[in-house]
Amino acid sequence: MPSPDSLRSAIRDVVDFPKPGIVFKDITPILGDAALFRDAITLLAASAEGQKIDKVVGIDARGFIFASAVADRLAAGFVPVRKKGKLPWKTCQVAYSLEYGESVVELHQDAVSPGESVLLVDDLLATGGTAGAALELLDQLGANVVGVTFLIELGFLGGRSKLGDHKIDSILVYD
Ligand code: 5GP
Repeated sequence: MPSPDSLRSAIRDVVDFPKPGIVFKDITPILGDAALFRDAITLLAASAEGQKIDKVVGIDARGFIFASAVADRLAAGFVPVRKKGKLPWKTCQVAYSLEYGESVVELHQDAVSPGESVLLVDDLLATGGTAGAALELLDQLGANVVGVTFLIELGFLGGRSKLGDHKIDSILVYD
């Protein structure tokens, strides 16, 4: 199994992005490096080891990049959770709070069948609002969520507490 250390070294801290006071974890140096990208996918896919996954669900937008590659690795389908207004077919929706205001995420109503085994993937867990909303959508469709996996977890924000009793794996944790 690859070591996560080289992934950690590649992540770039961008100060004051997207607004003053935020230090953004930029994962694009991982994507641009063939070996690191492959290692990231190997580590994320390992969180579902030994389990049959029907669908890997990725969250708009960086989550798509990782989740689709993980889906290919696990021989599973890929399903997008998108921000409001982007999905063309009938959707279910969940609103969640942001620091200022709220946001809405959507999932196609027929994207996951009741009882299908799902792995939820995103690049980063911060406050947990986004992943928590995605889990609510999957719950509405009766999905069997076998795990939630992140490349990065900002542990000091306590986002895990919003994700119920699901199995949660993070490759890199920042405390
Ligand atoms: P949360 O809802 O947990 O507060 O925020 C997580 C979502 O915001 C994820 O979908 C993630 O893509 C995005 N996000 C928030 N902060 C960062 C960051 O510093 N770096 C990256 N790559 N994504 C972030």
